[in-house]
Amino acid sequence: MDYDRFFHDKIQALKNEGRYRIFADLERKCGHFPSAVRHEDNALSDVTVWCSNDYLGMGQNRLVRDAMVAAIDSCGAGAGGTRNISGTNHYHVLLEEELASLHGKEAALLFTSGYVANMTALSTLGAQLPNCILYSDSLNHNSMIEGIRHSRADKRIFKHNDPGDLDRLLAADDPNAAKVVIFESVYSMDGDIAPIGEICDVAEKYNAITFLDEVHAVGMYGPNGAGVAERDGVMGRVDIVQGTLGKALGVIGGYITASADLVDFVRSYGDGFIFTTALPPAIAAGALASVRHVRKTQELRDRHQERSETLKRRLKDAGLPVMPSVCHIVPVLVGDAALCKQASDLLLEQHRIYVQPINYPTVPKGTERLRLTPCPLHDDAMMDELVDALVDVWRVLSLQRAA
Ligand SMILES: *Cc1c(COP(=O)(O)O)cnc(C)c1O
Repeated sequence: MDYDRFFHDKIQALKNEGRYRIFADLERKCGHFPSAVRHEDNALSDVTVWCSNDYLGMGQNRLVRDAMVAAIDSCGAGAGGTRNISGTNHYHVLLEEELASLHGKEAALLFTSGYVANMTALSTLGAQLPNCILYSDSLNHNSMIEGIRHSRADKRIFKHNDPGDLDRLLAADDPNAAKVVIFESVYSMDGDIAPIGEICDVAEKYNAITFLDEVHAVGMYGPNGAGVAERDGVMGRVDIVQGTLGKALGVIGGYITASADLVDFVRSYGDGFIFTTALPPAIAAGALASVRHVRKTQELRDRHQERSETLKRRLKDAGLPVMPSVCHIVPVLVGDAALCKQASDLLLEQHRIYVQPINYPTVPKGTERLRLTPCPLHDDAMMDELVDALVDVWRVLSLQRAA
């Protein structure tokens, strides 16, 4: 076996398809987000970031930074252990209480990331519940798919956002089997939103519990920023809400919230929770400050939605193919991997605008796109530059315009 040859060929295959990933080497500038400094070949340039998941700019918020610095000064750098063996710090406890209260649940459990939260909670539920069947939306995120796979439970894939198809699958299965329905609220690549209430109706009819990933909604929807389930008045009907501290809340980490017994069960049986070092206390302190601030700051959500609506309108007016998003995410269709990469390169090199290309396997082939994420700090001048730059790139590459 020629190992080096194998690795090299695998990489070359990606390059041939135009979907080899190159990371932009950025230095985020606190106080100037969404501007950043880009490093390339020892040269520096200022760029405007249009694809960050720091949706509300909380990563540079003064309250969050102060809380983190204060916690480092009082508690030190790391947690010093797993949650069970000396690693539980008071900030973890306070943050779990805050998150449970945000989602109107009895309890919450922190994980090192949203990915680990999905993977651990789903693999534990699927492996332990008797004769468990997991029902998964066809567009669920990789972290849920891996959790489902790892559980080794039976699984069914229902058509994306289709309660009728879910009903059909549930009706065909053993009424006595344990069942979990797994879906997201905001699907972040297309920008569509699940019919949460209708999915809960179907799940309740068959005595299934529901697991909802609100990663792209926490902080941004609902009067307290608890997510789309809160906005739609159905939060109490969802059994398990999963979220991240790394996107709109601007820090890192993930969590689930649910009944006290369910959370205690995952705490007690979930390998990805048990066998890993707890988040640093300063991370928990920063996330706590962030949740508290976002909960009571409706202006952030209003401004965020306004920026997104304005950008969609301006792109449409310019004849650019904005995909039909009903949330804050603004996907613009390119439809070809190599062209998508070229469009992104041109934006960066010629216009100092940074938007990462989104290619297969993140989205299906033929639907490659630029995924724009306007935040409250993108001002009108930045939007003018973006629209002009996109129009120019669409012309230079002869890309398909809106139908
Ligand atoms: C980003 C993402 C996750 C993972 O969250 P992290 O905190 O980044 O690990 C989970 N679910 C969805 C839908 C995501 O987009």
